Amino acid sequence: MSKQDLLRAIPKVDIFIAHPLFNGYSSKVLLPIVREYFEALRRSILSGNTERVDENVLAEEIKERYDAIMTPSLQKVINATGVIVHTNLGRSLIDPESFEKAKAVATSYNNLEYDLAKGKRGERYSHISTLMNALLGCEDVLVVNNNAAAVFLVLNTFAKRKEVVVSRGELVEIGGSFRIPEVMKHSGAKMVEVGATNKTHLRDYEEAVTERTRLLMKVHKSNYSIEGFTAEVPFHEIHKLAKQHGLTDYYDLGSGHIVDLPYGLAHTEHTLPEIMKDAPSLLSFSADKLFGSVQAGIIVGKRELIARLKKNQLLRMLRVDKVTLAILAEDIKTMLLGEFDKIPTLKMLFDEVEVLRQKAETLRAKLEGVLECEIVETQTVIGGGSTPNRKIPSVALAVKMGKWSPNRLEKAFRDEKVIGRIEHGHFLLDLRTIRPEEFDEIARAAVCLVSS
Ligand SMILES: *Cc1c(COP(=O)(O)O)cnc(C)c1O
Repeated sequence: MSKQDLLRAIPKVDIFIAHPLFNGYSSKVLLPIVREYFEALRRSILSGNTERVDENVLAEEIKERYDAIMTPSLQKVINATGVIVHTNLGRSLIDPESFEKAKAVATSYNNLEYDLAKGKRGERYSHISTLMNALLGCEDVLVVNNNAAAVFLVLNTFAKRKEVVVSRGELVEIGGSFRIPEVMKHSGAKMVEVGATNKTHLRDYEEAVTERTRLLMKVHKSNYSIEGFTAEVPFHEIHKLAKQHGLTDYYDLGSGHIVDLPYGLAHTEHTLPEIMKDAPSLLSFSADKLFGSVQAGIIVGKRELIARLKKNQLLRMLRVDKVTLAILAEDIKTMLLGEFDKIPTLKMLFDEVEVLRQKAETLRAKLEGVLECEIVETQTVIGGGSTPNRKIPSVALAVKMGKWSPNRLEKAFRDEKVIGRIEHGHFLLDLRTIRPEEFDEIARAAVCLVSS
């Protein structure tokens, strides 16, 4: 065929998009793809690189591009890294039962801000205040978008144009975008750093107090630890000092958990109920770290202080929606009933090594004949800024596939949405974070990747 004939064989766009393959497709998405594709085709014909134009082949290829665009980019993956609270992989999983109950509320009208008893406007945070009081013994609670928002709101409300005293050893950066000094600046609070990187004493806080001081703040060292000659002031002492000076004490706890950590880690981190015994004026933590619920920042503390936070106009921009509150309420109920096994994050954390070994055997059996697998003892981290530099035991499958390098295997699994890790030259699927209902999917992924 001559170039002219080939060009003439390119279908008219409006007729082409009526092709049966595109039944039910959005023309808004389809049209630009077709135009771009045909334009490239014209260029290819003119430069002599295309010698055939087949309408059905064009339709197939364009359909592929359309489908790629319309497949949601945010999708399910399998976390085989062993890191339980993995921020890149969506942090804590939501308990499906809580999600189901929240769905009923979210997909119908509800009393989010309506007092059913009085028939008047109500308060959105009232739905969890009694439950949270039962769980933590706090006077009141406020829920915002995440813990970063909680920190910002507290600083802005109590220390705008005033001073906040904080230890030099606690000026943490989390995930690259949350840095205590920056948040402090944007909130309008003046940060007064005290102590040294490795040691801060109570007198350092005390000497820094002026009439402009409003908050004494403690920040949890979430993703690092300081070793050697160190001293930090426990929160209860900061609390006492604040009280003596008529100031507010505030603890940015980062991750917070309800039950003692296993594997001898209990002494490294206090539980929320333990910290609450010191009756902090204000305390905030993430709901989707070790607490194991939905993304939110929870602020608990003295009633009159929470009331002041509620009056800050900024709350309107930071507040959470009905879905978050509904899930949170269900999860708190689960915790109050002591059913910690239902909270996926806690279930994964508490699974004993023997249980993980049995899981590894089951998964290995499913992969038999497809990949070579060896069960190995390993260690992993909890993640989510909970226990920096601490390892917990785990069991993994070290996977092999002929002469494939661990990197190639890692990429091949990742292409099938299974995210593992490489350790000491082996590609590992860590059973700490793989759930039994995912075994069959991993087996399917393995079949796909070896045949591709
Ligand atoms: C994680 C963390 C934050 C930020 O919490 P998000 O819920 O991620 O917004 C703030 N402070 C500390 C100490 C943290 O560990």
